[in-house]
Amino acid sequence: MKKVLWQELRRPEFEEAVKADAIVIIPVASTEQHGNHLPVNTDANCCFAIAQRAAQAIDEFPVLVLPPIWTGYSPHHMDYPGTITLKYHTLVELLTQVAASIHAHGFKKILFLNGHGGNAAVVAAMQLKLADEEGVPSLGYTYWDMPAVPEQMKAISQSDKGSIGHSGEMETPLQLYLQPELVDMAAATWVPGVMGDPSAGTREKGERIVNAAVDALVKILRDYHSGSLEDRLIWRKEIL
Ligand SMILES: [Zn+2]
Repeated sequence: MKKVLWQELRRPEFEEAVKADAIVIIPVASTEQHGNHLPVNTDANCCFAIAQRAAQAIDEFPVLVLPPIWTGYSPHHMDYPGTITLKYHTLVELLTQVAASIHAHGFKKILFLNGHGGNAAVVAAMQLKLADEEGVPSLGYTYWDMPAVPEQMKAISQSDKGSIGHSGEMETPLQLYLQPELVDMAAATWVPGVMGDPSAGTREKGERIVNAAVDALVKILRDYHSGSLEDRLIWRKEIL
């Protein structure tokens, strides 16, 4: 397997990656309660795994994956143990400075892959600041919102509880597939702080969602590299 993890590269390898117009993925996650049955690293594990798999699947150009940003914006989970949150502006500054550092080394294509619902608006607002104040255009997606992924999630949903979201029928199977040793299915019932029905989760559903998300991200990465996602960039070059 080729190296895709930013942390594993040496100096000349970064220079090579810049020359090849690599895309750098910044997984943005959280450390927060996920009910009684999932670990607090659920969001970090999901978006990091999807990013790594997509990066491995692309041979035409390099894709590098940063370690997941493990602290996010989670004030709404602070009632429950295990949650660590940053203040809004701290997260904005953290992400801005990480992306600006990457850009300073010559990387022109940066993609934020968010894995936590509470981060989505913060990341989008931060991208505006990043473009305006640092001159760094970027692309941003939340993994379950990438094209074709919502349809896959709808197809697996059996819950009548309305949402398959936080710690429910989406994240439970993802964790059963990605890190089953950390899941306690005996405790997989609805409790406050959980959305949807965790007991409907199966490993097979997790595999389907991961594969759909990886396929979607691979397509996005190829389109980004070829220049056909220019209109989604914040900001577009001609505006800068
Ligand atoms: Zn989560």
